Order: sequence, then structure tokens, then C-alpha cells
Amino acid sequence: MSYTSNLDEFKAWITQRYPDQKEYLQATFDIANDVIPVCNANEKYKQWEVFKRLCEPERIIQFSVAWLNDNHEVEINKGWRVQHCGLIGPFKGGLRFHPTVNESILKFLAFEQSFKNALTGLPIGGAKGGSDFNPKGRSDYEVMRFCQAFMQELQRHIGPYTDVPAGDINVGSREIGYLYGEYRKINNRFGGAITGKDIEFGGSYVRTEATGFGLIYFLDDVLKQANTDISGKRIAISGAGNVALHAALKAIQFGAKVITLSNSRGTLFYEKGFTEEDLHWVINHKGKPDNILLSLNERINGVWEADTKPWSAAVDVALPCATQNELIGEDARSLVKNGCKFVLEGANMPCNEAAQKAFKEAKITFVPGKASNAGGVALSGLEMSQNATFHKATYESMDASLKEIMENIHLQCVQEGNEGDFINYTKGANIAAFRRLADAMVSQGI
Ligand code: GLU
Repeated sequence: MSYTSNLDEFKAWITQRYPDQKEYLQATFDIANDVIPVCNANEKYKQWEVFKRLCEPERIIQFSVAWLNDNHEVEINKGWRVQHCGLIGPFKGGLRFHPTVNESILKFLAFEQSFKNALTGLPIGGAKGGSDFNPKGRSDYEVMRFCQAFMQELQRHIGPYTDVPAGDINVGSREIGYLYGEYRKINNRFGGAITGKDIEFGGSYVRTEATGFGLIYFLDDVLKQANTDISGKRIAISGAGNVALHAALKAIQFGAKVITLSNSRGTLFYEKGFTEEDLHWVINHKGKPDNILLSLNERINGVWEADTKPWSAAVDVALPCATQNELIGEDARSLVKNGCKFVLEGANMPCNEAAQKAFKEAKITFVPGKASNAGGVALSGLEMSQNATFHKATYESMDASLKEIMENIHLQCVQEGNEGDFINYTKGANIAAFRRLADAMVSQGI
């Protein structure tokens, strides 16, 4: 294997290995751009091929999940766990249940997760898993049987010191409960093999809110760095899931005006700005009405636009919190045209390459998810330590720790990404995370 000292060589190398995995290629190119110069300047990183090795997951487990639906028919789904990098702690990352899930998407998510987890400063490696199963439209019994069948295989590959899954898209409190229940029965062990558990059985305060709250704590840091603050800012948020709703809630508490929420069917625009009460109503009724945003609109009388994204709104801040590649070049140009100055990713890689390029050209502050949405996994890390010591920390102390961790990630981005009059958060996050992983790899040898 010859050392690749520039981006083109790297792209050629990884593309010929995984020609069809477009999301994985996208994620590795993005990081390569920033870390290859760091490798070139460090003899050990070069000698030990650190970056190329980080681009190969340590292990990928694929399995089939056969289960019985409510008509007693057999259904067969695919299941995966990508254990990407265990250098700095047990593999750690969520499970996603969505029909679009495939190996490329899980590899990109696991790769990003390794860098994100390194930024938290906690001892957690990177992983991701999931299935092409879609819980939407399924009965509770079907979701339970699916989760049990999924865990019957996954359980042999996880554990508090091995690999600790959590939730992600479509895997929330209900699914985590069923997954954990099955893990506990098979292993006769009550421990931190899964995070995001309910508070009654080993969960942590603030875990549910952590990704969204952490995103707003990070936004607060970014705005302070730019000599301004959240109060009065107009914010567009996409999504209506756990991250979007808790980000909206915290932003409102900080005095901002959140004027959009969205789902796969359209966007709810609300010029007056959602209230905390609106958000609590959605959080408490989630999963019940067919389209929760339409139901919310019946109460508040905003403007529902079907098949539209939030990015046409005139806002100061955009927080894409739905899914990967949801915000493309033309969306970015529309945000820039309408005066948006700050974009922070709440989801994983929601801004595609063209969008990121448009933000860069317009000198818009852009923060990648691996930095700005790290609050969720950080709280998972704190749940793991509480489980390991049979301790339950208070809500206030967890919230304070979350703030501190986000502040520390912000600081690392500023230190590594300072370009004089501009903070390049992508570069900062990529380099800071890479150094932690690379140094661990060098120390641990081949
Ligand atoms: N799915 C979340 C993420 O993308 C959380 C993962 C975890 O808590 O392990 O970071």
C-alpha cells in the first residue's frame, strides 16, 4: 500500500474500493480534504497509514431478521452493525430503522460517528447499525417482535465494554425498550449495553433532549464567537423528530424565533414563531396523528406548504435536523440570498457538497453535525458511566455537563479551524477529531 499524499490520489484509492457507496465516499472525501495536509506534516501518521486505516471499518456484521407480522406471515429484513473504530473506547453509535438504510449509509454514519465521538473527549469509539425495517404503519406488537428478532442476533456482538448501540432515526424510547428487554433476557445482565434507555431502567436525565439542546448550546457559542447572541434571531428548522423539537424548544427558551418545522410531506411556516407550549404539545402527541404538523397547524393557523422545504424562509440561522443530504445547492443559495448567516447541522450530513460549497463561497458560518450534534452521543457516554457505577446523576448536573462538552467542542473547532477573520468549523472539527484518533492509532501500533 503506498501512501497517498493528496486528495486526488486518495479519492481514486477509496473510489476503486467502494465504487457504489456514494454516501461513504462523500463522507471520506469531506474529511480527507482537511486531514491529508495534517498527515503529510507528521511522519508517524504517514508511516502508519493512519488515515487510510481509519477509512476501513474494523468490522461489519450483516444478518437477516426474520419475524412474524400480525397476519402470522414471515417477513425478512436486513440488519447491520458497522463497528467502525474502537481505538478510544467501546464502539458507540445509534441504530436506524428506515427503508433507505444500506451498507453505504451505515458506513458513512459510523465513520462520522468515530470523529464525532472523538470530539466529545469521552472514551467512546464509533459505530452505527440498523435495518431496512420501517416501523411507520406497524402495530406495537409488530415493532416489538421485530426488535426482539433483531436483538436475538445483535446481542452476541454488543456489551458495555464492546459496543453500545442507542437510537437514531425511527429508533426512540419504544424501540430501545424492546431491544434492551430482549438483550437483558438473553444475557441475564442489567447493564449499559444500550443507551437512550428510559429513566426507570438505567437511562440518564437529559439524554432525550441532548442532541437538540446541545445544538443550541453550540449555536450560542458560535454566536458569541461572532460577537452576537441568540435572542431575537429568526431560525428555520427542518424535521419534526427528537432533534428538531428539542432544538426548537431550547432556541425559544433562549429568546429566538423559530419559524419553521418540516417533515417528508412539507413545511409548516409560522411567522409569529412557535411557542414552548406548541413544542410541548407536539412532543406529547408525537406518533399519534398521521401528520403531527398538520394537526399543530389546526391549533396555530400558520402556513402549511406541501412538498416544500424550509429553506426559502428569510432567517438568520438555519438548522437542518432531518436527514442526510436534505439541503442541496439551490437551498443553500436561497438561504444565502435571504440573509442567512449561520448554518449548524442537527442531523448527520444534511448539507450536501454543493450546499457546503455555496456556504463557503458566501462566507456563511457552517458547522458540521459531527461537532454541533455531538450532544446526543455525549449524553450517551455519560449514561454509560452512570450505568457502570450504578449511579444516577441529577438533571441539572447532566445539563451542565452537556453545556461544558459542547463548549469544549467549540473551543477545539476554533483552535484548529481559525483562519484569521473566519472560523472554518469543518476543518477545525475534522482535524481535532483526527488527531485524537491518529495519536491513539500510532500509540497502539499496527
Ligand atoms: N444517533 C445519535 C448520533 O447520531 C446518537 C448515538 C448514540 O447515542 O450512541 O450521534
